[in-house]
Amino acid sequence: MGMASGFVCVGMGAAGNDGARVRACSRVDARAAGGAEGVKLPPVYFVLGGPGSGKGTQCKRLVDEFSFRQVCAGDLLREKAKDDDEIGALVENCIRNGKIVPGHITMELLYTAIERFSECPGVLIDGFPREIKQAVDFETVYARARAVLFFSCPNEVLKARLTNRGLTSGRVDDEASVIEKRINTFHEMTMPVVDYYRRNERLQCFDAEQAPESVFDDLSGFFKAEEMRKASRQREQENKKILSSSATQA
Ligand code: AMP
Repeated sequence: MGMASGFVCVGMGAAGNDGARVRACSRVDARAAGGAEGVKLPPVYFVLGGPGSGKGTQCKRLVDEFSFRQVCAGDLLREKAKDDDEIGALVENCIRNGKIVPGHITMELLYTAIERFSECPGVLIDGFPREIKQAVDFETVYARARAVLFFSCPNEVLKARLTNRGLTSGRVDDEASVIEKRINTFHEMTMPVVDYYRRNERLQCFDAEQAPESVFDDLSGFFKAEEMRKASRQREQENKKILSSSATQA
């Protein structure tokens, strides 16, 4: 069983962003808010794991199964890297060297992508936040992540998977020397984010060394439980409303 029960999210209701209002603290947020009133955002789930841990594969399945939307930071950046300008060249260079792309570029791309998804049961943000500052910036100005899905996998397995993928992927960063750098960057920059959410009791750890089918079973279990928690919160709210209106009438 891959889900490490030690990291089960506690107090999901309070931790989640149901009913969260965009705090208009920046240009991006003002835009996301669509005006001073703000908008109700879909629940946001961050998806983290080393390169080759299967984040993309699992996110796609979750989109199919639970009607979520997916935003993949890496895909957005790979697209940006094609631009024939200074920013495009900078992004390309970071990717080629297994480094994290500067925050302002990544965040702007991400916010723009997420804004398209106001009407959906949840948004999975694949490969984000890659460093503490991204996590803090996102949650300060946009929305608190409901949970962080962490795909745990040993380095040797990551290396073997990426080397194998590199035979056909055509990705510049699936080459041996870059694979090593990406894994190092993950440990140095992203593991502190994982530890932060673990302390914060919002980390959900999945054993990503398992076969994809088993990882998906664990993820499905988590999201089915999420649906039940949501339904129970809604029932509680409806009951409260009924009770308060009957108290007013009495
Ligand atoms: P991935 O597709 O997740 O393996 O990411 C490929 C590359 O894109 C990474 O090695 C980074 O150079 C860049 N990248 C992906 N996500 C982020 C992020 N959240 N912040 C900065 N750079 C990122």
